[in-house]
Amino acid sequence: MKEIEIENELRRVVRRLFLEKRIDIFIGFEDSLNGVRPCFIKSVDEVDRLVWNKFCKNNLALYLLRFDCRVGIVAKGCDEGAIIELIKENQISRENLYIIGIPCNGIYSEDNKIYSVCKTCTRRNPLIADIIIGELVDEKDMTFDDLKEIEDMPIKDRFRFWIREFENCILCYACRNICPLCYCNECYLDRRDLIDLRERNLSDKIFFHLSRAIHLAGRCIECGECERACPMNIKLGKLFRKISKEVWELFEYKPGIGIEDKNPLITFDPKRDEEL
Ligand code: SF4
Ligand code: SF4
Ligand code: SF4
Repeated sequence: MKEIEIENELRRVVRRLFLEKRIDIFIGFEDSLNGVRPCFIKSVDEVDRLVWNKFCKNNLALYLLRFDCRVGIVAKGCDEGAIIELIKENQISRENLYIIGIPCNGIYSEDNKIYSVCKTCTRRNPLIADIIIGELVDEKDMTFDDLKEIEDMPIKDRFRFWIREFENCILCYACRNICPLCYCNECYLDRRDLIDLRERNLSDKIFFHLSRAIHLAGRCIECGECERACPMNIKLGKLFRKISKEVWELFEYKPGIGIEDKNPLITFDPKRDEEL
């Protein structure tokens, strides 16, 4: 199906959901002067605002936490992955959700470049959607070859590489705020006694990044939102890919796939953990 056909079908399905009173709000995308952006459709009269195209980059799962009603949402593979993790972590209820899944071959920046996370994505097709619009796409084999350049560096150079990245961080918190899986009401990283926002020195920056890395291990679904939001172009995508690789190699576990799958980092299996 062409993008315009998917968009028309999306509007048709959402219109029906409102007319049948199955949802109270729909989370999708609309056009704006600054490009495609998330939007919140509240009635059938607003449905024609919805668009669908390769620039629909945001992970909409982030907004699900705002609503305590019946919500419809359009989801790419990575949005659905985040939805699965939020359901597993009891943050949202599957019963209140209507998911329109759209198979995805990647999303593009305004200058028409595919985002790097999409080149290695192995989670392109809907797995738990209530309805799928568009044909299923080929899934890619899992590979971590994209990390080779960094992994092949001597350890000192690798250390310097990450220190250089972290030095550029301005601790704006955009990466944390945009992450669909960073939802704590009271975030550890908001503690002013832990991070001195007046100084913003290197150790604060390292502390910030290592804390997020540990908190997202086994939960990050590699949507790339953090890297896209970063005003300093810090290679957060590579950092979280590396963490995903470690989790995969240690536990053969990938988040965002099965609602019943247990995160090995929050469960204890004496046999497995003894071996580790
Ligand atoms: S990460 Fe995967 S599902 Fe998400 S936009 Fe890229 S290709 Fe699509
Ligand atoms: S850490 Fe980044 S890539 Fe991972 S889920 Fe959060 S925003 Fe997405
Ligand atoms: S978005 Fe970039 S600059 Fe801002 S805190 Fe995150 S890594 Fe640092």
